[in-house]
Amino acid sequence: MSELSGKAQSVLGLLDPDQLGRTLTHEHLSMSFEFNYFPPPQGDEAVAENPFQMQHMHWLRQNPYTCMENLRLNEEISAVREELLAYRKAGGGTIVENSNTGLDRDVKTLKQLAKETGVHIIAGAGFYEGSTHSEATKKMSVEKLTDIIVSEVLHGADGTDICCGVIGEIASGWPITESEKKVLKATAHAQAQLGCPVIIHPGRSPAAPFEIVRILQEAGGDISKTVMSHLDRTIFDEGELLEFAKLGSYLEYDLFGTELLNYTFNPEVDMPSDSQRVKILAFLVKEGYEDNIVISHDIHTKHRLTKYGGHGYSHILKNIVPKLLTRGLSQHQVDKILIDNPKSIVL
Ligand SMILES: [Zn+2]
Repeated sequence: MSELSGKAQSVLGLLDPDQLGRTLTHEHLSMSFEFNYFPPPQGDEAVAENPFQMQHMHWLRQNPYTCMENLRLNEEISAVREELLAYRKAGGGTIVENSNTGLDRDVKTLKQLAKETGVHIIAGAGFYEGSTHSEATKKMSVEKLTDIIVSEVLHGADGTDICCGVIGEIASGWPITESEKKVLKATAHAQAQLGCPVIIHPGRSPAAPFEIVRILQEAGGDISKTVMSHLDRTIFDEGELLEFAKLGSYLEYDLFGTELLNYTFNPEVDMPSDSQRVKILAFLVKEGYEDNIVISHDIHTKHRLTKYGGHGYSHILKNIVPKLLTRGLSQHQVDKILIDNPKSIVL
């Protein structure tokens, strides 16, 4: 463990944290989301079957999960390669790739992409949401699950010697299932052994992040090295957000670029726009949480790639950073969010 301590672990090996540069903490470069397909409403079937035409792109942006083809990001490796080169050109350094077991993680492809583009890629260990747990996973003890996660970080994932550098995204729905609770406990146990960062995908209820922090803490997890993802669609009340921020995790706003009216996974949610996300970040900075914020796009479908007219992986660097500066953040604070905070979540 001592050789890992204080280092970041990319798919190409150990790095000094100063080498990471601007870092997106929650992206996907190769994954499949087919298990979250929603059939199209009556009348839209033909559009859903033939989505990537100019006249259908608005429909696709509003209904991203209603089209099977859109959910196979792992078919777009060459487009993703181009995007990574553009990200590097725009000043990007590192991408944390959050696909783990359940999302068709492909560490060999990640290694290839890192070699070809020069972007540091950090792979994720552990298990996604309960709906993706196999029967074998559901039957595993917390100890067995812990061993698997530890091994993915120390020895390699998916039968390779390519090692993960974070545990995540560890996902649960709401309410949290028994199997998801076991995975959360195993995550905390593995973190206690390894000292590594954890990235959490909470269920879509404001209560979910609080409950998850409680489970992790009780199992010995380190909340100061834990990232709570997807706050954009999870906690809306400012008072509740400040209550959550007090618990000390990293606060991740990671749906930048997503602008839609009806959020398929929870119709109760009013998905914020990028302008609203920027306002929330400015609010959190004003309240003193600039050391806790990290941001990303969580690209997990094809339509968000620039190839299909989407915002791509450089949207934050090109469009959100200037907006943050206009809304009162200093360059120093922006650098904290994109460079210093991600850098501090290492092994
Ligand atoms: Zn994700």
